[in-house]
Amino acid sequence: MSHSPFNNLTIKKFHQGLVNKDFKALDIAEAYFKVIEEKDKEIGAYLTPLKDLAYTQAEETDLRIARKEAVGELAGVPLALKDNMLVKGERTTAGSKILNTYRGTYDATVISKLKNEGVVFLGKTNLDEFAMGASTENSGFHPTKNPHDLTRVPGGSSGGSAAAVAGHMALAALGSDTGGSIRQPAAFCGVVGLKPTYGAVSRHGLIAMASSLDQIGPITRTVEDAAIIFKAIAGQDSYDSTSVDVSYGDELTNPDFQKIKSLTVGIPEEYFIDPSASSGQGGIEPEVRAGVESVIAALKSAGIKFKKISLPHTKYALSAYYIIVPAEVSSNMARYDGIRYSQINHESEPSNLLELYTKTRSRGLGAEVKRRILLGTFVLSSGYYDAYYAKAQKVRALVKSDFTEAFKDVDVILTPVSPTRAFKIGERANDPLAMYLADIFTIPVNLAGLPGISIPVRQVKSEKENVSQSISHVANKHVTDLPIGFQLIGKPFREADILGLGQLYEKI
Ligand code: GLN
Repeated sequence: MSHSPFNNLTIKKFHQGLVNKDFKALDIAEAYFKVIEEKDKEIGAYLTPLKDLAYTQAEETDLRIARKEAVGELAGVPLALKDNMLVKGERTTAGSKILNTYRGTYDATVISKLKNEGVVFLGKTNLDEFAMGASTENSGFHPTKNPHDLTRVPGGSSGGSAAAVAGHMALAALGSDTGGSIRQPAAFCGVVGLKPTYGAVSRHGLIAMASSLDQIGPITRTVEDAAIIFKAIAGQDSYDSTSVDVSYGDELTNPDFQKIKSLTVGIPEEYFIDPSASSGQGGIEPEVRAGVESVIAALKSAGIKFKKISLPHTKYALSAYYIIVPAEVSSNMARYDGIRYSQINHESEPSNLLELYTKTRSRGLGAEVKRRILLGTFVLSSGYYDAYYAKAQKVRALVKSDFTEAFKDVDVILTPVSPTRAFKIGERANDPLAMYLADIFTIPVNLAGLPGISIPVRQVKSEKENVSQSISHVANKHVTDLPIGFQLIGKPFREADILGLGQLYEKI
């Protein structure tokens, strides 16, 4: 894997090579498909490759370059798409058997924006069914493996997208994040993942899981690449009334590092204690703590100021999330009735409508989705609504106000992404609570609607004092080389702060 021709390719380098005519967009698309054909049988990152579409798109870019037309930075860039975003005419399953034969009837807003930029769509990637999960084991089709260690999960739910980027099967990818699904797989796979501020990117054409939390964002090899893609997909959209009109300037991709160095970074004590103290399970791995501390030390030596802060309601965030999310899920899943979108073959014809619904949903949906529909229907039912749903909304407001208070003193907050590194396939598959804990540090960010980014901790080789990118350890399957991610959380719509600080970390 470390011999891949794409090891050091970034969007900028790709663009330079393309306009210098070092290669054609089609050459690169073909080369990526060669890697996909060689490796994806083992890793399982893709559900539906889009070879015909990709080659047509690559040829269009090559034609524009041949005609000496100006092309943007994303033209020809080979991108993977989480399979919960609609591409017109193409299969879109959301990782569920219930949508096995569904094809997008329109382009999601992010897709049409990227089509206009000339992006090449390599294919649709695997995910936990309807994005419910943290390991991609809940896919209705097959699990995805972590390219760093094939016995481990890539994280989830955007595990296919993260594995595609980490495994050099795409230059970059799109994921979606409701409670950690971009940031946690990015951390497990040693790549970068940005969850934008709620409202920064249109959700139109994203198959909904929990609409008050879902956001689309990039998964990339570098922070700069994440900034480039984010800039292209952000913006208000009349098809998503929760999207906001914010103008993001050049500071996203061209940060003023002097300004970045004057930011104050908060360290919340609640994110460094053993989460088992409040939840009865789990625990922060010493390697994760040490990795995040090495980042703090590196940034300190670059002149960044740190301050201890407190986010006192953190310990209630997971419980509130697992009331609010099932409630929204139970309503969003109601539309999958076996009549619209996609049909399921039944052994015997259902004799009435109710039986059709029951058979379709029993066979077409997996255990985690059913669990959430049941829980969500329960917490919304009369008599329980106030005790659970209304209370969870109040907790959500408290979690949010913790951040608002903290951001009076600091500009950015730094935390681990997940309490552990990638766990073994099967290890948590039958223990939903253990699975839920993987997102204990990312969920509060969604509840508060804030931007968060996961960036790989550089592996410190203490024997040699030699600092090298964790990405270059892809070939080494030793457990100590498993990737670790750190998270930067920003103020609403201040993606520029976390992207700028991340770009500074990559430079030092
Ligand atoms: N793992 C979390 C869940 O299952 C988050 C998933 C996501 O962000 N889509 O809800």
